[in-house]
Amino acid sequence: MMEVFDEGLHSGVNLALDVGTVLYRDKTDLQDLIIFENSTFGRVMSLDGAIQTTEKDEFIYHEMFAHVPILAHGNVKRVLIIGGGDGGAARQVLKHRNIAVTLVDIDRSVIDLSIKYLPSISNGAFDDPRLDLVVADGCQFVKETDQKWDVIIIDSTDPHGPGEVLYTQEFYTDCKSCLTAGGVIVTQNGVPFVQAEELRNSYDRLGLLFQDVSFYMATIPSYVGGPLAFGWATDNKELRKLSEATLADRFLDADIETGYYTPDVHKASFVLPIYVKKILTTTE
Ligand code: SAM
Repeated sequence: MMEVFDEGLHSGVNLALDVGTVLYRDKTDLQDLIIFENSTFGRVMSLDGAIQTTEKDEFIYHEMFAHVPILAHGNVKRVLIIGGGDGGAARQVLKHRNIAVTLVDIDRSVIDLSIKYLPSISNGAFDDPRLDLVVADGCQFVKETDQKWDVIIIDSTDPHGPGEVLYTQEFYTDCKSCLTAGGVIVTQNGVPFVQAEELRNSYDRLGLLFQDVSFYMATIPSYVGGPLAFGWATDNKELRKLSEATLADRFLDADIETGYYTPDVHKASFVLPIYVKKILTTTE
């Protein structure tokens, strides 16, 4: 009888994945971590019962997380990744020339086990001399550092357990103080259809700090409930208005291979459907 991984994140909604081989299953010091084989998604990592990333669809998530802010900004030298212990976001950021990455993840085991069991996702990013790895609570890190970055990618788990602090007003305020002028913060902000409150909370909290706050979306097949929202926050209102032609020039110059990202997908991803706009504007 085939074992089934049952992700019951949202009330009344379950995502069941057949479990082939279990490669790892144990509690780290901080989180329940499982890595298993699935016939459709390849190797899958879950933390505290929530699917984090899969070999087959991670490229969509990590390409959109990295290339949208970097190509919109146009002159990124330093990127801070909070979370992202699977190394996927770091791999995509490091495809760009002349960018240094600081990655701050609270759980060393996630990094080590991702390198061991999901090597294609980081694909050597952790060995790249341009990457500075810090094992720490991202919330503490941004409070204590005096460094600044052009892009901050908050690649966190959902707002439960150790990830909860990465959705607070205090954390966003400290992130802003680590951002260079005109810099961009992007966040993993859940699936609006089943996580509307998370989206609205981030919108309101970031809205107290930045001139331009919105979301862009992409559908990640292993994240149940529809398109995922990436939070967008910057004081440079021009970045979201960049033409597809400008983005295309920058994409061409970047000379990177992608499987999902294109400049017109970038532009289109910021077009929000009515049900998402209603989450952001309802006053009830
Ligand atoms: N793509 C995933 C998603 O959408 O939920 C996120 C992937 S990544 C594996 C999430 C990472 O956030 C984990 O490695 C976890 O250890 C890290 N994390 C959770 N809370 C953290 C904190 N307070 N500071 C730094 N990293 C944290």
